[in-house]
Amino acid sequence: MTTAPLRLGISRCLLGDEVRFDGGHKRDSFLTDVFGRYVEWVPVCPEVEAGLGTPREAMRLVGDLQNPRLVTMKSGTDHTRALETMTTNRIAELMELDLSGYVFKKGSPSCGIERVRIYNEHGCPTGTESGCLRGPLSSSSH
Ligand code: SF4
Repeated sequence: MTTAPLRLGISRCLLGDEVRFDGGHKRDSFLTDVFGRYVEWVPVCPEVEAGLGTPREAMRLVGDLQNPRLVTMKSGTDHTRALETMTTNRIAELMELDLSGYVFKKGSPSCGIERVRIYNEHGCPTGTESGCLRGPLSSSSH
């Protein structure tokens, strides 16, 4: 008897896809080569799917701890709306896929689920919160 593999969402860069801001990846060999044998991955890169392209300017969470903005570090471009739109639509799709879980990239302002640094307008860290993808997930009904 065969059983269906677990279906899990994952931050796409962890699978080795070159989607990071610098054109690189964060491949995790345990996830790809060991755990991955038992899993059907559903890769998601919020920043690429929001149309920001690769490579792109690095960004971080800025402002209010409860309602931070996603802002690029050099030009100060605010991508919050683009990420909010993308995540709202994508999360609806992910819910249809009946995921059993999700592997988030640690520390990412878009994918991180906790202890993601938030900065003030002077570039100094002021606290931590969830990234853009996690925010809508935590406020959803699932
Ligand atoms: S947005 Fe998420 S998936 Fe995309 S590169 Fe950053 S951490 Fe990886």
